[in-house]
Amino acid sequence: MSWPPVVGYAADADVYCPRCAAALYGADVLDDTKTVYDREGNAIGPVFASEEWDYAPTCGRCRVALPYTAIDDGSPS
Ligand SMILES: [Zn+2]
Repeated sequence: MSWPPVVGYAADADVYCPRCAAALYGADVLDDTKTVYDREGNAIGPVFASEEWDYAPTCGRCRVALPYTAIDDGSPS
């Protein structure tokens, strides 16, 4: 396993934890052999724990904090 863990899914200009992503878009979202599209028609992509953020990511539905490794804070908050 060289892939970092998936912590969420990006869809409709937001990010969701796996549980909410499955609730909103169907369990196929969690199957990386299938492509599921969001309401904007974009393929829903996994979010990996290794990604850098410019803010602390939270689920767009239940607001749970998603695990992350780095915050790229170019400016003071
Ligand atoms: Zn959630």
